[in-house]
Amino acid sequence: MSEQGGSLLIAEFNANFPYDYSAGRYASYFFKQLKEKKKIMGIRCPKCQRVFIPPRPACGYCFVRNKEWVDLGDEGTLWGYTIVQFSFLDPLTGLERPIPYGYGFIELKGASTRIQHFVTASDLNKLRIGMRMKAVFREERKGSLSDILYFKAIED
Ligand SMILES: [Zn+2]
Repeated sequence: MSEQGGSLLIAEFNANFPYDYSAGRYASYFFKQLKEKKKIMGIRCPKCQRVFIPPRPACGYCFVRNKEWVDLGDEGTLWGYTIVQFSFLDPLTGLERPIPYGYGFIELKGASTRIQHFVTASDLNKLRIGMRMKAVFREERKGSLSDILYFKAIED
């Protein structure tokens, strides 16, 4: 109701705004390697030797351009995690993700930074900080971080 006592006009419509944007030179190379070769690439600072993942054009510590790509393999260490118990919409799919599931920080061998991703083990309660993890890739990859389904614990 407006102040004059009239009713509001409501117009319903479904807005569809598809768009694409450039991932940039560094992220494009990173995603292309992930899609085509199942390679997880980092980039090394020529001055301090830190290896960044995801790759970035410049080292924030040394302010120099990063140029040397490094194949980090598909194994790393679990640095922290949580087991998600509350269901919500997965922004990658728009669908509710089945619970429970693990989400954590993984430091790939040779990297100086960590990436966040889904994590799992034969039993989620077996997840522990310091565990060795291995990336599990999708069969059909699109060139996005979701080309990695999750990191799974390497258990004895
Ligand atoms: Zn540096």
